[in-house]
Amino acid sequence: MEAPFISDPQELWQKTCQELQKLISPDAFRRWFAPVKPLSLEAGRLVLGVDNSIYPFWIEENYTTQLKESLALAAGQDLDVVFEVAANRGAREPAAKEPPAEERPHSAKATTVSDLIPRYVFETFVVGANNEFATAAAKAVAKSPARIYNPLFIHGAVGLGKTHLMHAIGHQIVKNKKGGKPPKVVYVTSEQFTNEFISAIQHGEIVKFRKRFRQADLLLIDDIQFFAGKERSQEEFFHTFNALFDGSKQIILTCDCPPSEVKNLEQRLVSRFEWGLAAELAPPDIETRLAILKAKAAKLEVRLGDGVLLFIAERVKANIRRLEGALNRVAAWAALNDKKLTQAQVEELLKDFIQQEARNMLTIETIQQKVAETFDIRMTDMTSKRRPNNIAIPRMAAMYLCRRLTQKSLQEIGAAFGGRDHGTVLHACKKTEADMARNEHLRQQINFLLQKLETAR
Ligand code: ADP
Ligand code: MG
Repeated sequence: MEAPFISDPQELWQKTCQELQKLISPDAFRRWFAPVKPLSLEAGRLVLGVDNSIYPFWIEENYTTQLKESLALAAGQDLDVVFEVAANRGAREPAAKEPPAEERPHSAKATTVSDLIPRYVFETFVVGANNEFATAAAKAVAKSPARIYNPLFIHGAVGLGKTHLMHAIGHQIVKNKKGGKPPKVVYVTSEQFTNEFISAIQHGEIVKFRKRFRQADLLLIDDIQFFAGKERSQEEFFHTFNALFDGSKQIILTCDCPPSEVKNLEQRLVSRFEWGLAAELAPPDIETRLAILKAKAAKLEVRLGDGVLLFIAERVKANIRRLEGALNRVAAWAALNDKKLTQAQVEELLKDFIQQEARNMLTIETIQQKVAETFDIRMTDMTSKRRPNNIAIPRMAAMYLCRRLTQKSLQEIGAAFGGRDHGTVLHACKKTEADMARNEHLRQQINFLLQKLETAR
């Protein structure tokens, strides 16, 4: 990029807006970016002023990529963006909870955690039955890194708070450190690790690469399922892991499934991951969803009736990111319109969220019924302890299908199959996969069911 260096925030923002307008609709630009005022530009950071905290939330949620890209094009370099909300009298967004005076003198600290999202802290993480265990584990690790659970392996479906919890540990460890050099926190996704590794090889910078990862005090690797099939990256990561582990450094990993279920991952890595503790994040129940919405609404400083929040909590279930998205949309509408928000209005605003949810509604019971029909066994066989093959095989297949097609946790699936424990469900899934590889007829039956159930949602 060869754009000349711009030091005037006004000019930089004007150029950025020109780029932005090529990327987003005129309506979106007018609504979300036209009211933004550039305030200052220093130390690689552009500070933008807005009147209301709905702007940073909405922009972060929907336009982060476009904003970063436009800014990089205009500035000729990557810059950070910080929002300042007028109503907060200069408090920094989104880290509004921290008094600003606290933050400035620790700029050395700030740079070590710059990869961590400021609002992903324990204070904003709502604890419910679905994440209680994982939260307790995370707090324990934050309190005594590399002492109790190493690695900590957080797993669960998309949008349930894995990245949030992982960042919260990072923030807490930095915060706990009193005096001395701030701890070096390295956060990457497995994809970034892979990309950096490949690029290091290409540019002969492998020594630098290793130094970056092996000198970390805390290593956070997000979404390790994307290591699947990337053998050289896995090998490199294996050595990184060992170096850190041997040096008593904490390692935290997240994944969309438990260690033993990760596809195409070397056995030696799986067994390393099993050294520590695996904690699952399950989908939140209605109380937790409502608590999350209330916390978010308070932070957005919008007044939404309890009825509206309950309506959203009842309809958006499987994914907290989507729950937030739904709230943001309603909150944005409320912030920009003086009219009273009616139930019909909310329904209209959330039409696509509600449709998407309906598609996700496949239940364990539906799966059990379809499997029972196909294999000609009774529904009661799904929960019984009887173990002849003509019953046990379909029952295991049904557990396998629940695992693949719903967001239910292993515990929940086990419970729905006559109170079996999560290990039994895991075993059933593995056994079914192995049977499918050997038995063509079974494979066809299960694939047929998969297809049928997929289209039924
Ligand atoms: P994942 O990494 O599992 O896909 P994230 O950590 O990105 O999910 O979480 C998705 C969104 O939901 C984030 O904005 C996060 O702050 C929010 N979130 C998830 N769990 C909670 C929770 N328990 N309390 C508050 N917010 C949450
Ligand atoms: Mg994530």
